[in-house]
Amino acid sequence: MPAVQPPRSGAASTDARRPAGNPWRVELRELGRRAGSMHELERTVPAPADWRVELIGVPEGAPVSLRLRLESVMEGVLVSGEVEAPVTGSCARCLEPIEDILELDVQELFAYEGSTTEATSEEDEVRRVEGEVIDLEPMVRDLVVLSLPLAPTCTEDCAGLCVDCGQRLDDLPADHTHEVLDPRWAGLAQRFGASQTDRPASEPGTPGTDNPEEN
Ligand SMILES: [Zn+2]
Ligand SMILES: [Zn+2]
Repeated sequence: MPAVQPPRSGAASTDARRPAGNPWRVELRELGRRAGSMHELERTVPAPADWRVELIGVPEGAPVSLRLRLESVMEGVLVSGEVEAPVTGSCARCLEPIEDILELDVQELFAYEGSTTEATSEEDEVRRVEGEVIDLEPMVRDLVVLSLPLAPTCTEDCAGLCVDCGQRLDDLPADHTHEVLDPRWAGLAQRFGASQTDRPASEPGTPGTDNPEEN
């Protein structure tokens, strides 16, 4: 029975001729094992879920474009080229939405089963050819996720938010400030308005109001 989604490792040989519609899996039959043979691969594939860090990531299903060269070398298949992926997120300083395109270079060896490279590497040190198929998804995922900034910003020098009013400082005039009113005068300011020009220096008919003894 054909497996729709072959497992990432193991049991690969039985599914080798059936990448089963997973666009991240590439059949190597055309490439062959003769060192020096080369195959160009250009395809746009939908991003899987969870390609993200806290504030930014590749939306699930977004088009990830691959322009890769697959070269047969002694130890396996050398994959090199460019990856482009759209990212969306929010600015760590001002929370504005961010949209960008990641452009990344990649070069990695997928080792043949039984090759010296495979035999001398730890399980997680080297990517492997599975039968006659390589799965590009873990490689591109690592490349993309490791390049995502933990504190993305909308512009290189985003000034963030005003701590008093919460507006974006970049949207406000350069001299944006808040008058800090002494709370003891807040009541007066309310009664007389912001300008106190009408208020006489000393009010007539109330002499001695500053005398604490008077009742
Ligand atoms: Zn910002
Ligand atoms: Zn403000």
